[in-house]
Amino acid sequence: MNYQNSLAYAQQLDKDDPLAYLRNQFHIPKDKEGNDWLYFTGNSLGLQPKQTQKYIQQELDDWANFGVEGHFEGETPWLPYHEFLTNNMAKIVGAKPLEVVVMNTLTTNLHLLMVSFYQPTKQKYKIVIESDAFPSDRYAVQSQLQFHGFNTEDGLIEWKPRDGEELLRIEDLEAIVEEQGDEIALLLIGGVNYYTGQYLDIKRIAEIGHAKNCMVGIDLAHGAGNVQPNLHDSGVDFAAWCTYKYLNSGPGSLSGLFVHEKHAHNKDLPRFAGWWNHNKETRFNMRQPFDVMAGAEGWQLSNPPILSMAAIRSSLDLFEKVGMDALREKSEKLTGYFEYLIKQIDTNRIKIITPSNPKERGCQLSIQVQNADKSLHQKLTDHHIITDWREPDVIRCAPVPMYNSFEDVFRMVTTLKELL
Ligand SMILES: *Cc1c(COP(=O)(O)O)cnc(C)c1O
Repeated sequence: MNYQNSLAYAQQLDKDDPLAYLRNQFHIPKDKEGNDWLYFTGNSLGLQPKQTQKYIQQELDDWANFGVEGHFEGETPWLPYHEFLTNNMAKIVGAKPLEVVVMNTLTTNLHLLMVSFYQPTKQKYKIVIESDAFPSDRYAVQSQLQFHGFNTEDGLIEWKPRDGEELLRIEDLEAIVEEQGDEIALLLIGGVNYYTGQYLDIKRIAEIGHAKNCMVGIDLAHGAGNVQPNLHDSGVDFAAWCTYKYLNSGPGSLSGLFVHEKHAHNKDLPRFAGWWNHNKETRFNMRQPFDVMAGAEGWQLSNPPILSMAAIRSSLDLFEKVGMDALREKSEKLTGYFEYLIKQIDTNRIKIITPSNPKERGCQLSIQVQNADKSLHQKLTDHHIITDWREPDVIRCAPVPMYNSFEDVFRMVTTLKELL
């Protein structure tokens, strides 16, 4: 792209943007004068689609009007409610409907998935994560090791960037698995790293793990709604992601879960049970022996929180209208423009550590600040430019193609330059 560094050019890009109309379908936080904040934290909490209120209100109305009969009455009865989300969610991550369900929250799902896919033996028990894994994933994996009686020092293997580098190299993972694969039970890797924004080659990770009979799981918290991971074709065994980041479904909202079709009919997999993963046909016969459902639904435990699911249904309807392909096309252009403008600033006080190849990143750019000077982030916040600071020294900024504009990006970088 031959970008230009001017407000008029940024505004022209917005005029030419076929997705520009979407911004108006979101609530954009504003300052006291009524100017929109420059919101770059859709990677942390996505903004609220205006239609979400209507979706939640509908369920409140059904509850008011039907009480318990809301499970069967109304436009979207609660009994099969999670099924209304499945097709659209499956498309977002490139999966078959059988492979996907929305339930629980992310870390909970990682544990439930490890109940099935982390089956350590005395010889084969180690787990590989990225050295910069999100803390919740690290704690989850450590506690699984301990739960099975292993020592975390010995049981946890970190895939690290090389000295003096920020990003992971796939050949280093290959070397780890080649050397220690006989002792490794599971690879649990963040598909898009929360800190660097690096988008890893998920298919390659699956091949590397499977070559040594390791299970492969992917945390897609920073991938879902941001990149197209093609989960089915990637061959990974399982994945999970939250819906409050790029999927705009509200604080603490539920998680998506993927189990590959190859495991869909394996009733012998160890798993925890509740009435919601029991056969739908006989669920309410109550005195039935447990009969697990096929596919991802076979990992559910409880009847789900409908109000939270209503927010997800609203958001997924927007994604369905737009499609991941169109979003991704805009996203590459928008983040490319952001990168171009930052690189025009003549300074050595900041450095982008996210890969510059669009195939190796989503929309987020991670800006490393020299001497870990946190005051820069505070000054941005004082100007109503919402980014986040991640220890030790990074400002994460995510221009989200659903609602951020080229003008947002231009104004952000103009202020950043002044502050520097
Ligand atoms: C956001 C995020 C989480 C948060 O987990 P919750 O269980 O939803 O609180 C976990 N892991 C990663 C990689 C994340 O980005």
